[in-house]
Amino acid sequence: PDLTHELRALDAAHFLHPFTDHAALAAKGVRVITRAEGIWIWDADGHRILDGMSGLWCVNAGYGRRELAEAAYHQMLTLPFYNTFFQTTTEPPVRLARRLSELAPPVDGRRFTHVFFTSSGSEANDTNVRLVRRYWDLMGQPQRKVIIGRWNAYHGSTVAAASLGGMRAMHEQGDLPIPGVVHIEQPYYWQHRLPGETPEAFGVRAARWLEEKILEVGPDKVAAFIAEPVQGAGGVIIPPATYWPEVQRIVERYGILLISDEVICAFGRLGHWFAYERFGIKPDLVTFAKAVTSGYVPLGGVLVGERVARVLVDGGEFTHGYTYSGHPVACAVALANLDLMQRERLPERVRDDTGPYLAERFATLADHPLVGVAESCGMVAGLILVRDKATLEPFPEDWEVGLLCRQHCFDTGVVMRAVGARMIIAPPLVMTRADIDVMIGLIRRALDATWADLQRQGRVQG
Ligand code: PMP
Repeated sequence: PDLTHELRALDAAHFLHPFTDHAALAAKGVRVITRAEGIWIWDADGHRILDGMSGLWCVNAGYGRRELAEAAYHQMLTLPFYNTFFQTTTEPPVRLARRLSELAPPVDGRRFTHVFFTSSGSEANDTNVRLVRRYWDLMGQPQRKVIIGRWNAYHGSTVAAASLGGMRAMHEQGDLPIPGVVHIEQPYYWQHRLPGETPEAFGVRAARWLEEKILEVGPDKVAAFIAEPVQGAGGVIIPPATYWPEVQRIVERYGILLISDEVICAFGRLGHWFAYERFGIKPDLVTFAKAVTSGYVPLGGVLVGERVARVLVDGGEFTHGYTYSGHPVACAVALANLDLMQRERLPERVRDDTGPYLAERFATLADHPLVGVAESCGMVAGLILVRDKATLEPFPEDWEVGLLCRQHCFDTGVVMRAVGARMIIAPPLVMTRADIDVMIGLIRRALDATWADLQRQGRVQG
């Protein structure tokens, strides 16, 4: 309690939190997390909480993995840092580039031959803006500048990455997007379906929004389309199976580049090393970050397919880069993390065992009076809190039922994130079936507590 008290005071006095209303935070009191092991985190008061969000979609290998700490320690003693600008390189980033290039399945026989390293997903998506515009310049089509993203997507917080994303509040506060970035709606069936429309029909219709936007902008002006295979921070939006094949046909028809932002979806999260494989997506560029190191150190980057890589490598100086492009310690930890994930077959486990099991168990939550839809894909899942199960009518926004439920989750001992009325999880991939049972039990208790609160307030009956 003393430590909680002290750190809360320091936090309130000095720390600016990302994406946080500081007045609301002060009213509740920030939670102080002090240690973690496996799939559990502990707060400074000794409460144990199941980390249903893997830190923030990062800690796929779980907490307390000694070999990742040791990889960092040894690399720091050998060579903590050297730059990659002065016609110099170091061992970990080149070995990691090779490793990622081997892990990424080729598309139509074309490999992902090169990697541009950054320290975060945001920087990687900024790099994408530079890369695609540079590519079209070198191809003699400098008028191809426009990048199409999707509303409600999150691609990072730098000025360019926030522009690619479609978070309207970010655009409003930042006077964004930058010129040459436009957006289409996300393929969210439960929000955009027409009466009687099947998910399959909706998937095709949603993909055609991309074609309409390309025609509106002018096909010869479009440089690229950026999207996550499954939209994560936007609320775990799982597209119908028909969506990606149709998007793929459209980008090919107009010859535009496709960027698969896999900051969340890669490294086993959806049961594959890279998620484009699962959905039959054929990207030219793949953004990664977060779980490449299981979050133990910051690292991100762009995997560059042969089509773009060849042009860039032959194209003279690409005037772009970061001090930490290829940081040796970060890359050494990433190599150790990939070793660990490969040895423990984490992507395969998610694909063949824990992913299907989570789907089965998570779906049982749909019988709860508060839950309209409960769906999952690999090790991400989302449920919708509704006022009316039959029509999926939502609660009034200002009741903040999502935030109420999130609070009950934390108090019950499981981290869930609220995106409006959608409650989402992305637990560590080292979860066992028994862990999944425990997690589902905790979520159900938190839903019961939320329901009881709403009853007490006279907002629901029954
Ligand atoms: N892309 C996606 C899909 C993300 O989810 C995130 C972070 N949540 C980012 C990019 C930005 O990554 P970072 O926070 O490392 O800059």
